[in-house]
Amino acid sequence: MIRRLLLVLVLFDLTAFCQAPKLDRQVAVTIDDLPAGMADRLPAADITAMTTKLLTTLRDQKIPVVGFVNENKLYKPGEVDERIKALQMWLDYGFELGNHTFSHMSLNQRELKDWEDDVIQGESVTRMLLAQHKMRLRYFRHPYLDTGRDLETRRKADEFLIQRGYRIAPITLDGWDWAFAGIYEDARKRNDTDMQQKIVKDYLAHHEASFAYSEQQSVKVVGYEPRQILLLHASNLEADHIGELLDLLRKRGYRFVTLQDALSDPAYSLPDTYVGEEGTGWIDHWAITQGKVIQGAPVFPQWVIERSKQLQLSTGQVSAETSN
Ligand SMILES: [Zn+2]
Repeated sequence: MIRRLLLVLVLFDLTAFCQAPKLDRQVAVTIDDLPAGMADRLPAADITAMTTKLLTTLRDQKIPVVGFVNENKLYKPGEVDERIKALQMWLDYGFELGNHTFSHMSLNQRELKDWEDDVIQGESVTRMLLAQHKMRLRYFRHPYLDTGRDLETRRKADEFLIQRGYRIAPITLDGWDWAFAGIYEDARKRNDTDMQQKIVKDYLAHHEASFAYSEQQSVKVVGYEPRQILLLHASNLEADHIGELLDLLRKRGYRFVTLQDALSDPAYSLPDTYVGEEGTGWIDHWAITQGKVIQGAPVFPQWVIERSKQLQLSTGQVSAETSN
């Protein structure tokens, strides 16, 4: 009898062991480079169509999103009104807008004063649109994630942003979607469906690998998986395929929270003295601050970089900043 009871207990334990642990992961979605990463290459009608498709999916799936704007992309002669309307749609659909500087300016490449001016210049239309929805401009995202090459610049810039009423929007999940988006745009224009499928397959695979890596790093650096913040970019790739990416996140146990909710995680108050030439995510910031060695990040598919070079797409820059 006792032996049978033990067997039952062992079996019970095994069942508990075999069941996957119930994960409660949380993620806030942010989308940069509005109204479109490739706004200089796309006519306003295409930007509107892209925005409509992207926002419809996000609204239907009830995903809270903050979109970060580069207002210089609005000023194309003859298209200003339509481009502002595309931006307005984000608010009409129930999303929020933040500032990503006027011209997608890197804090690491320019003087602090110039950069501050670019932040201010990037506020006018966005602030006006937000006011119409009784909302306030409250989030800032650094272009290229460049937060300053030295600690003094970084601290001064942080202070400047706080004084202007901003909360800095860090990121912890990043699969470099913008690098896939450029070559996808080309394949889409040429109706090359084979190439589009190939790109989407690797875009999803690389994101999945990046998510797994960030989750592991989180535990090593933070001690647990904080509410993550995902970085994406406004593009036809996301408009066409963000649904598959959201499914992938759900499969990993994520539910979607607001940026405000994510930022309430204590991880975002961890010491952060990261400075460097290259912008990077906040898990790296915290790791480097703690003196931890970062290794094992998934390798970005080389063929995507080669293809971008062939098409003369920038591989290190999202926007047309170089034209300024
Ligand atoms: Zn950007």
